[in-house]
Amino acid sequence: SVKAVIPIETLDTLSVKSYPLCMRQLHEHLRTAHHMKHGGRLQYGLFLKGIGVTLEDSLRFWREEFTKIMDLDKFEKQYAYNVRYNYGKEGSKRNYTPFSCLKIINNTVGPGDCHGCPFRHCEPNNLKNRLIGYGFDHQAVHDIIDITKKGHYQIACSKYFDASHNVDLGLGINHPNQYFEESQKLIKG
Ligand code: SF4
Repeated sequence: SVKAVIPIETLDTLSVKSYPLCMRQLHEHLRTAHHMKHGGRLQYGLFLKGIGVTLEDSLRFWREEFTKIMDLDKFEKQYAYNVRYNYGKEGSKRNYTPFSCLKIINNTVGPGDCHGCPFRHCEPNNLKNRLIGYGFDHQAVHDIIDITKKGHYQIACSKYFDASHNVDLGLGINHPNQYFEESQKLIKG
């Protein structure tokens, strides 16, 4: 099947409706900080490629944010390469695939990083406050945090999916791009 092209103008809406929390967190960080460390750029950049954002749009997306805090020349020299690299246009020209949940969950996340899986890498209290801030009902938040504390990160993610879409599907989530596709299927019907 031919995948639809996703214009970057739709990402703010999609990040709320159809992104798993790991990607929503990265998107919001980029929008507020206008910067992102390498681990996050890799995780989010490959996800964007996977959902159908073109290379041209990806370059524009990162450039528009980064040039809010740096000049264009610096962006082109230090960051544009990585964007093209993710699309297999630089370096070894491999076709890099977006990361699976397992890879993201097992990734090393340091201070100041915002990549990784929030169910695995966020402090539960911060996670709880964030979910409440997003407008989730308290029972759903309670359930998600409870499962998170037991170490069942992907099940917590599935609960997040259900709470976000107001359904009770209990999907097995093993890939952020699978999460996105399931969500789009549900929304578009
Ligand atoms: Fe992302 Fe997977 Fe974690 Fe869900 S379980 S937040 S899709 S890494």
